[in-house]
Amino acid sequence: MKSKLLTRDEFREGTFARDNYKCVFCGKDAKDAHHIIERRLFDNGGYFLDNGASVCEEHHIMCETTEFTLEEVRAACGIKNKIIPDHLYPDYEYDKWGNLIMEDGRRTMGELFHDPSVQKILAKGGMLEQFTNYVKYPRTYHLPWSGCIGKDDRVLKDYSSFTGRRVIVTIKMDGSNVTMYNDYIHGRSFNERTHPISGRVKALWSQFQANIPDGWRVCGEDLYSTHSIHYDKLDSYLYGYSIWTDKNICLSWDETLEYFQLLDLTPVEVVYDGLWDQDKIQKAIQEIDFEKHEGAVIRPADSFSLFEFKTCMAKYVRPDHDKTVIHNLASKKLPHNLMK
Ligand SMILES: [Zn+2]
Repeated sequence: MKSKLLTRDEFREGTFARDNYKCVFCGKDAKDAHHIIERRLFDNGGYFLDNGASVCEEHHIMCETTEFTLEEVRAACGIKNKIIPDHLYPDYEYDKWGNLIMEDGRRTMGELFHDPSVQKILAKGGMLEQFTNYVKYPRTYHLPWSGCIGKDDRVLKDYSSFTGRRVIVTIKMDGSNVTMYNDYIHGRSFNERTHPISGRVKALWSQFQANIPDGWRVCGEDLYSTHSIHYDKLDSYLYGYSIWTDKNICLSWDETLEYFQLLDLTPVEVVYDGLWDQDKIQKAIQEIDFEKHEGAVIRPADSFSLFEFKTCMAKYVRPDHDKTVIHNLASKKLPHNLMK
């Protein structure tokens, strides 16, 4: 549920008025209108009344250090409507800075984790030791002309991350997202029950995992079992598409290919490599055989940060892909065929 986007002044005044100008935790005079979720995580500033909390100085700090959870802050304000940035997921738990909280209480690094001010405030609260090196693969926005946009999907607002730059368009394969470190492997969520990884893909990962630098991760597609497309001639059950450093920087495409060669990992197929040109790219995507592929993914050839992910990565999904997913669920466990 959305509430109304306010101006900065309306947000401050409205939050104070709702809380009677008192700190929602101790009742002292309120000093600040705190953003329950950090405003930098919103593309519109996050000035929603349900994202505001009136706080005294002491309790403001405890909100920022994340000693108070988001649930505790909302409960103190009597807020029932959970406001979160568009690119985050309503069914996951986050802290104020957009770091995801896992089921076991440990946290994973969000897009602002490496920001010096965030590092400082988390250290002050003694929270850094709760963090793992793991990162959930972010939500990829659809291109505006994508063939299949669901009601919960997000759409890219403009092409400013692509204009004037060399971009890479690759085939989007119909498998499961997998993220691999030198000590861990996980699917779209960190939960093996909801996103199991095939034994065949774990075996492939074990052949190169020792060569992944500390804190780095390799993202790819687990193609062992059929979802809605059955592949007849795969080069491998594991295709790679991006590599991220311990500082959450996605390597440039050229560097990525060099690493894939070193790791002996098959890259996803490129269908366009050149300057951003919407007409040419749409044409290249239309020439993909959508009987055999789910869609396409675009990115700048240069490196970019996790914070820039939502504007730098976008996808095209073939028309009616959602319907074929339901139609073909029965065949889900069927393995694909390899070329060799
Ligand atoms: Zn207080």
